[in-house]
Amino acid sequence: MAIVNTCGFIQSAVEENINVILDLESMKEKGALKKIAVVGCLVNRYGDEMKKELPSVDLWAKAEEWEKVAAYFDPSIIAAPGNARGRLQETRRWSRYLKVGEGCDTFCSYCTIPSIRGRARSVPLSALLEEALFLVRNGAKELCLVGQDLTIYGKDLYGEPRLDELLSSLDRELPSDVWIRMLYLHPSRIDERFIDMVAGNARILSYLDIPIQHIDDDVLKMMNRPDKEGHIRRIFAYARSVDPLFALRTTIITGFPGETEKQFAKVLDFLEEAEIDRVGAFIYSPEEGTPAARMGGHIEESIKNSRYNRLMTLQAEISKERQRLFLGRKLKVLVDEVVRDDDFAWCRSYRDAPEVDGLVGVSGGSILTEGSFVEVIITDAEEHDLFAEIPRK
Ligand code: SF4
Repeated sequence: MAIVNTCGFIQSAVEENINVILDLESMKEKGALKKIAVVGCLVNRYGDEMKKELPSVDLWAKAEEWEKVAAYFDPSIIAAPGNARGRLQETRRWSRYLKVGEGCDTFCSYCTIPSIRGRARSVPLSALLEEALFLVRNGAKELCLVGQDLTIYGKDLYGEPRLDELLSSLDRELPSDVWIRMLYLHPSRIDERFIDMVAGNARILSYLDIPIQHIDDDVLKMMNRPDKEGHIRRIFAYARSVDPLFALRTTIITGFPGETEKQFAKVLDFLEEAEIDRVGAFIYSPEEGTPAARMGGHIEESIKNSRYNRLMTLQAEISKERQRLFLGRKLKVLVDEVVRDDDFAWCRSYRDAPEVDGLVGVSGGSILTEGSFVEVIITDAEEHDLFAEIPRK
């Protein structure tokens, strides 16, 4: 059986998913596969059309219908207590996602997520605490808080955002050796006080993933994003001033309709000035049903691509510089994979979110235990990964 967990956010993801489903269909025809389930955002966005086009798929389930998949295949679901949600075991036992909510109220003009996933709906704080404790009892050493926008957590339930309260409750209730990592913080709701709080708490990782998409006020306005250049520059500069080793991550869209060369150049300047550790860049793609797709001033593909390439080339240099800062330093890492034959281990530090960031490769790693923390000394730095040794006792 195969379960395709899809993304319907942008056209390139839609195409990639459809190609995977077509490959699985031909495997099924040849008898190499019995069942196919397609789950996730693609079903929310194009479910009815796809059901007609891909008849050999056995099960279709929207992003919020994971129980349908469990009921159909009866896989090894971890039964979660009380209100906490059950889950499929997709990640390593020691690194788990804690999804704090679903949907988004920001309605950026290029984005399909509010129409696919709906308005922001938070999971009650008590249920999240219960789920977090359950995951930790089952071996989690790192909880990655995820949601389309963590900073809005709780507003729908409690009338105002409650991310601070969620963090302090997790901090109070969880054992002290569990990492808390936040993924996706909207810049408009990040301020100096929040950055101080993160910097001052050892288990809330000094890792700020703040997707800004652009820095120019006029482009941000066309994107229907509430942020202003001055605010964005201020919070990133503040984080750097509080802790020069803060891991800063952002996301940029290149070639938004009407983006001029001067406006794009501002983005490059900003990345250098703010010394952003890691950047996820996307070439703008007009998405069906979004206001941006109907705007004038769409930019030629070759220009969009060239801006993307220039940004990535510059960012590779910035990332390398940031990586070199760690040479000779000690870093606490979480051991993800021990390769015994090579006497090596792949680990992650506070700077490395699972799947999206780099790794720390540790020589002599065969003595390490997967899912445990260890302190290593950094000996080499590449653009994405660091390399390290275990200090002699
Ligand atoms: S904040 Fe993020 S998820 Fe929400 S509309 Fe904007 S880009 Fe989409």
